[in-house]
Amino acid sequence: MSIKEVHEHIDQNREKDLNTLIELVRIPSIASRGIGVEEACSYIVDMLEGLGVKTEVFPTKGAPVIFGHIETEIPGAKTVMFYGHYDVQPPEPLDKWLSDPFEPDIRDGRIYGRGVGDNKGQFLAHILALRSYLATGTPLPVNIKFFLEGEEENGSANILDFIIPHKDLLGCDLVYNADGGQEPDGRPSMHFGTRGTVKCTFEVKTAEKDNHSGHNGNNIPNAAWKMVRFLSTMMDDDGNCAIEGFYDDVLPPTDYEMGLIEALDFDPEGVQRVTGAVKPLTMSKEQFHMNRMFRPTFNLNGLGSGYTGSGYRTIVPGSAIAKMDFRLVKDQDPEDIIRKIKAHIAKYDPDVQLTVSSYLWPSRTNPEIPECQAVMRAVEKVYGIKPVIMPTTGATNPEYVFTKIAGLPSMCVPYCNADESQHAPNENFVLENFYKGIHCTAEVLSEIGKG
Ligand SMILES: [Zn+2]
Repeated sequence: MSIKEVHEHIDQNREKDLNTLIELVRIPSIASRGIGVEEACSYIVDMLEGLGVKTEVFPTKGAPVIFGHIETEIPGAKTVMFYGHYDVQPPEPLDKWLSDPFEPDIRDGRIYGRGVGDNKGQFLAHILALRSYLATGTPLPVNIKFFLEGEEENGSANILDFIIPHKDLLGCDLVYNADGGQEPDGRPSMHFGTRGTVKCTFEVKTAEKDNHSGHNGNNIPNAAWKMVRFLSTMMDDDGNCAIEGFYDDVLPPTDYEMGLIEALDFDPEGVQRVTGAVKPLTMSKEQFHMNRMFRPTFNLNGLGSGYTGSGYRTIVPGSAIAKMDFRLVKDQDPEDIIRKIKAHIAKYDPDVQLTVSSYLWPSRTNPEIPECQAVMRAVEKVYGIKPVIMPTTGATNPEYVFTKIAGLPSMCVPYCNADESQHAPNENFVLENFYKGIHCTAEVLSEIGKG
């Protein structure tokens, strides 16, 4: 028996595989509301145990973690750990759905339902690939572990409480995750990291209330000006962050990563169209991708003070607020960045009050390791086209728990269509993408097994 039979088996069992997805999507596992989580958990555990995967359920303060492992008989084989999440976003607004979010509907070659792509259909592809290996009696090329959490849509609030005491259990050669959508033109893609983040609020207060600008102007300090002056100390004349030491730990791309950037597309008009940017983009392709992946941001995302409605209120604003998010790149440490922000406040305006609402570490895996190279080969083989390879995404998720906390390489290969409408009404998964995903996982296992 060989990988060829595995692929044939996947083709012959489309209906059965689709029915498994339908059954799982029917369970409305919304962790943020505490519903359906136990039921989804036991459905998955039954399925894994039915395949001979040794499965354990670990309770957390929130939804339980499902951990499973199955060993190959090949001595010295590598180990792949699949990560995914079985919780889903709430379905609202319900009136925007064309079919019941928890009664999957097949229309125009797509399956519609909450969680079909994010993330039930995508992690199920891994389990179904395993099912086809076992059903055809094909020896597993690698040892397989499953790590399925139940509150990713809730910010993976308790994931560290599980990871830290179970690092030994998680040992593997690669953490592999299918989530999100492929390129809009249908090309497969992959990435090897995410940016970290610090989200914070700055507040300035000069009076308990807004005051009359005629009677009190010049005498009562203006909170809006005070905030503007403070914010201007954070940026130099070239638009760089002026917080001392902010860029100290930013690692430049390796030559290999630079090669990956050079292989990416850049369509400035397309970006302008999608973003609605008023002026054309003038940076080079390299700079555009460097800005997205290798350079941190310090983004002012909200600013408020005084009165901006119609007409005028001639007031001296007594308070001002600014909100910012910092996207961090490897090897920046959010706790160190918070210390540097505090030092900046102490130096330039100690009256500014800082509140940090949340922070996460960045994550990056070396794409040159043999396991990542094997995935690149597998994806190209299955899709028949070179994947779009991004060293990292510009976005943020808790991937650092694997790379930084557990010390494991981790990568993501999205299986969904780009227009999957995750988190929105009419979430969908193109059926061909779903089946291709199962083939892809099967091939990934085979290629990593080759060494
Ligand atoms: Zn999601």
